[in-house]
Amino acid sequence: MRLTANEVGELNPLGGSNPLVSALITVVPLVIERLEELVLTFRIAIVGAGPAGYFAALALQNSATDERNFAIDMIERLPTPWGLVRSGVAPDHPKIKTVSKVFEKIATAENFRLFSNVELGSDVAMSDLVERYDAVVIATGSSLGRKLGIPGEDLRGSLSAADFVPWYNAHPDFANLDVPLDTDTAVVIGAGNVAMDVARMLALDPTEFDPTDTADHAIVAFKKSSVRRVILCARRGPEHAAFTSPELRELPKLEHTNVLMSKDEVSAALSRIGDDAEKDVKNNLGAMELITQKEPTSHARTLEFEFFLTPLEIHGSDRVTEIVLGINKIENGTIVATGEMKTIKCGLVVSAIGYSAEPIMGVPYAKGKVENVEGRVGETNIYTVGWAKRGPSGVIGTNKSDASDVIKLLVENLPNSPKEKDDIEDLLYDKKVVSQSHWEKINAAEVLAGEFHGKPRNKSANVEELLRLGGL
Ligand SMILES: Cc1cc2nc3c(=O)[nH]c(=O)nc-3n(C[C@H](O)[C@H](O)[C@H](O)COP(=O)(O)OP(=O)(O)OC[C@H]3O[C@@H](n4cnc5c(N)ncnc54)[C@H](O)[C@@H]3O)c2cc1C
Repeated sequence: MRLTANEVGELNPLGGSNPLVSALITVVPLVIERLEELVLTFRIAIVGAGPAGYFAALALQNSATDERNFAIDMIERLPTPWGLVRSGVAPDHPKIKTVSKVFEKIATAENFRLFSNVELGSDVAMSDLVERYDAVVIATGSSLGRKLGIPGEDLRGSLSAADFVPWYNAHPDFANLDVPLDTDTAVVIGAGNVAMDVARMLALDPTEFDPTDTADHAIVAFKKSSVRRVILCARRGPEHAAFTSPELRELPKLEHTNVLMSKDEVSAALSRIGDDAEKDVKNNLGAMELITQKEPTSHARTLEFEFFLTPLEIHGSDRVTEIVLGINKIENGTIVATGEMKTIKCGLVVSAIGYSAEPIMGVPYAKGKVENVEGRVGETNIYTVGWAKRGPSGVIGTNKSDASDVIKLLVENLPNSPKEKDDIEDLLYDKKVVSQSHWEKINAAEVLAGEFHGKPRNKSANVEELLRLGGL
C-alpha cells in the first residue's frame, strides 16, 4: 500500500510536515518494489494434482530464496484435485484422506495457481508447456490396470481394480461402469493393498458405507448386491504378499464379515522364513496369525484368502460364471505350477495386479512409466514424480521424499535467469478452468452436502455438476 503525502502527515508523530519522514515513507516502498523485481521468478508447470504433484509444489516452495522463487501452475484433468486421495484411497479409511489438508495449505501459498478441468494432451500440448515454463513436472500417476492376459478377461463381470476403485470413489469417468453384483461369489486377483481394499469393499456390510464418502451410486449398488462370499487369490504364499500389516490387522475387527485364512498355510509360511526375514514380512505373518485365530461367527459375509493360485481362464457365455486357477507350490524357493487346477463358480472377477501410466503425447514412456533418469526426462526441462515416475509403488508419503529429490535436481538444472513467456491462460480462454477459488467452492459444497448425512463429504461424480458447484 502506498500512502499519499497527506496520509503520511497524519501518521507522522513529529507533525504533518516533517520532510525527512515523508521522503522515507515515499522512497522505502519504491526500494522494496525494485528489490522484488530483482528476485528471479521461474515458472514451473506441474501436471497432475495428486500427492506427487502437491509434494513437488511444496518442495519448490521450500526451495525459494531471497534471490529466486517459483510461480507454480498446477494442471489437472479432472474438475477436482487430490488424485488417488480422492479417487483411490478406500472410503472406509477417512483418516488417510486428511492429508488433503496439507495439499490445500500448499495450494493457498503465494504464487500457486490451479488449472483443474484442463487435460495435458487434449486441452494443452506438451509443446505448449515446454514453451511457456522454465520446467515441467509430470505427476500424472499410473491409472491403467494391468491385464491378466487370459481367455475370458473381457467378459461382462470381469473388471480391473483400475476401473472398479474409481467407480466406488465417484471418479466421473467411471460413474457409469457396469458392475454386476447380482452374484453370490466374487473373486479378487492380487496380493497387495489394492486387492485387499477391493475385497473388503465387496465384503463389508453396505450400511458401513453410509458414514463414508463412497459414491452414492456405489452405495445403492452395494445395498442391492447379492455378493456374500469374496475370495482373494494370490499367486504366491502368505510370506510373499505385498499387503501391509496395518491393513491386515484391521481385518479381524470387521463387525459384519468373517475373514478366513488357513492356519496351516500361515504356519507353513512362518516355518519357511528364516530369522533374518525382513521385518515387514514378519509383521505381516504376525497379523495373518491374528486373522487365523479369530473364531468365525454366524455372519453371512465372508472374505477368504487363498494362496498359490494363478488365474488361467475365465468362463461364461455373455457373463462370467467361473474362473479356473492353476495351483502352485514352492520348490527350492521358487513358485512352480503343480499342473493341478481349481475352479471357483463366481459372477464377478476383479483383478488388482498393478497399474501402468497412461501415455501422453510428447512424453516418452518405457515399461509403463515416464522414461526418466532420477526423475529427469533426457536432457530436457521435463521432470517426473510419483507413480508416473516410479510406477505404482509406495504409499502417499513415499511421494514426498521422491518429489523432494526430483525438485532438487530440477532447481540445480535451472538456467541463470527465467525466460520471458506467454501465460498459459491465453490458451484456455474458451475452457471452463477450475481455479483454486472455484475448487474451494466445490469442496465446501461437497462437505456441506455430506454433513446432512453424517459423511465427511458427498462427492459428485458428474463433471457438469462439479463445474456448477464451482460457480462455472
Ligand atoms: C486403490 C488405491 C488405494 C490406495 N490407498 C492408499 C492408502 O490407503 N494409503 C496410502 O498411503 N497410499 C494409498 N495408495 C497409494 C497412493 O494413492 C499413491 O502413492 C499416490 O496417489 C500416487 O500419487 P501420484 O500423484 O503419483 O498419482 P495420482 O494420485 O494418481 O495423481 C495423478 C493425478 O494426475 C491427473 N492426471 C492424469 N493424467 C493427466 C493429464 N493428461 N493431464 C492433467 N492431469 C492428469 C489425475 O487425474 C490425478 O489427479 C493407494 C493407491 C490406490 C491405487
